[in-house]
Amino acid sequence: MFWCRNEVRPGVSVAFTDTGAGNLALHVQDDPTEVMARRARLERVLGLEDQSVSRRFQYMDQVHGNHVEFIEAYGPGPTADAMVSAAPALHMASDRSVQPLAVMVADCVPVLLVGTDAGSSPVLAAAHAGRPGVASAVVPATVAEMRRRGAVDISAWLGPSICGSCYEVPEQLREEVAAEIPETWSSTSWGTPALDLPAGVRAQLAALNVPVEYSGECTLENDSLFSYRRDSLTGRFAGLVWTHD
Ligand SMILES: [Zn+2]
Repeated sequence: MFWCRNEVRPGVSVAFTDTGAGNLALHVQDDPTEVMARRARLERVLGLEDQSVSRRFQYMDQVHGNHVEFIEAYGPGPTADAMVSAAPALHMASDRSVQPLAVMVADCVPVLLVGTDAGSSPVLAAAHAGRPGVASAVVPATVAEMRRRGAVDISAWLGPSICGSCYEVPEQLREEVAAEIPETWSSTSWGTPALDLPAGVRAQLAALNVPVEYSGECTLENDSLFSYRRDSLTGRFAGLVWTHD
């Protein structure tokens, strides 16, 4: 069900699902009732239903852009490629609840970020970094929004995505993206032009002094992960970040 799952700071966890959790996306010709049941199952397994206030992961309507939405409370998914959530401005010191966030992918880079605000409460973020998102700096925009909300001590976790040896692109596209982010320049294992998106995201984070504590493996090379390049009509797995007792 989980590719990996870790408590990364006291009371804050990140996880990436695998095909065992099933498809979590509503836009890939799957039965919406079953998708919602799978999302609810994840929340049950992770104990989000056991807390005083039942909480749900906020998903978003991802469009390969670089808009970052600040999420105050669970609601209809925003059209965005990154979300940031933090403790409400007026909250009890004991109330560490922050809106849990989810990002869906199948080859794009799922990025989860955790920081701490002035009141020692966690600031969470989830970003979807595909080729257009890397080129248009959606991850740096997410870090900027977290810092605008007072976050310091930010770390990032990159989940599984297609690797630089598998992600073949036309020569011109490689040149365009690598002109912006040189670290993305790559070649496939069979010698054709490619892009290394996780390397690009790592470089963008390094430039902002944000350490990457985990970087996932290749989706195309692992059958327990969804890969759009491998299967075309396929599901989406998720990156999840949440607070807990
Ligand atoms: Zn690969």
